[in-house]
Amino acid sequence: MESEKIWFDGELVDFKDAQVHVLTHSLHYGLGAFEGIRCYERADGRRYIFRLREHIQRLFESCKICLMDLPYTVEELESACVETVQANSFQDCYLRPLAFLGHGKMGLSAVGNKTHVAIATWDWGAYLGEEGLNNGIRAKVSSFTRQHINSSMVKGKITGQYVNSILAKREVMNAGYDEAIMLDGEGFVSEASGENIFVVYRGRVLTTPTGASILAGITRDTVMQLLGERDIEVVETRFSRDMLYTADEIFMSGTAAEITPVREVDDRQIGDGQPGPITKLIQEAYFDLVRGSSDAHPEWLTLVE
Ligand code: PMP
Repeated sequence: MESEKIWFDGELVDFKDAQVHVLTHSLHYGLGAFEGIRCYERADGRRYIFRLREHIQRLFESCKICLMDLPYTVEELESACVETVQANSFQDCYLRPLAFLGHGKMGLSAVGNKTHVAIATWDWGAYLGEEGLNNGIRAKVSSFTRQHINSSMVKGKITGQYVNSILAKREVMNAGYDEAIMLDGEGFVSEASGENIFVVYRGRVLTTPTGASILAGITRDTVMQLLGERDIEVVETRFSRDMLYTADEIFMSGTAAEITPVREVDDRQIGDGQPGPITKLIQEAYFDLVRGSSDAHPEWLTLVE
């Protein structure tokens, strides 16, 4: 996880100097916002950050939801991300912008505590493993319910909300599975602990609606646009757990997990147990865009050098 430099409140500092006080408000109560972004070396040998604008905009939205004022503009934080990648020597890397409330008042409202922003980078290979990326993962439905839309603000990527995801992830990993799928309060499939879900069911591609209890993933949006451009419609609809068991194909989308096929849910094999044709098509289209040579969406690529 170590890098040379971390961007911290407007300056690039050495990795070891990016420190906070133990009375940092967000450390105690979980009010903070973050992003997960990837930068890839593409076929032309240059590094590009994928969908940087949309990630920084979502960071601002997460902060707005939390009533946290970011002391920067979208453009300033975009430039800060580019500078952070430039200051480190990774070929491909993951970027983690984080906004959090500093120390000061310890009451819950903490009005007046400073909002700090840090941007770290690290080398992160396939989040759910190379084997999972190529051949599919084994998922399990967690006993933990995804938060209700009026108890957590799920459209925000808010630090404290991830306790719910971590409980689900640890539960299924301890039971020997790779990833947790979470159901909402009514029992419909919501998303995985850190990914959105797509299901190919009776020939149609389904995904949980934006307005449901999911983070509206930027990779999810990329998948929907790429499938649409290939005349494959994605239907946003709620679906039940047993539809996972009898699906033709299932895949997950996320910045860290990229496009990961699911080969098993709750010990039921999905399709023939191999990544299906739509999964393979979208995986190929995605990787051609982020690290290949596709020129289909130049607006999604921010050149680093
Ligand atoms: N859902 C959750 C809960 C997540 O943490 C993530 C990862 N950010 C996603 C979905 C996928 O979002 P994105 O494609 O923007 O990375």
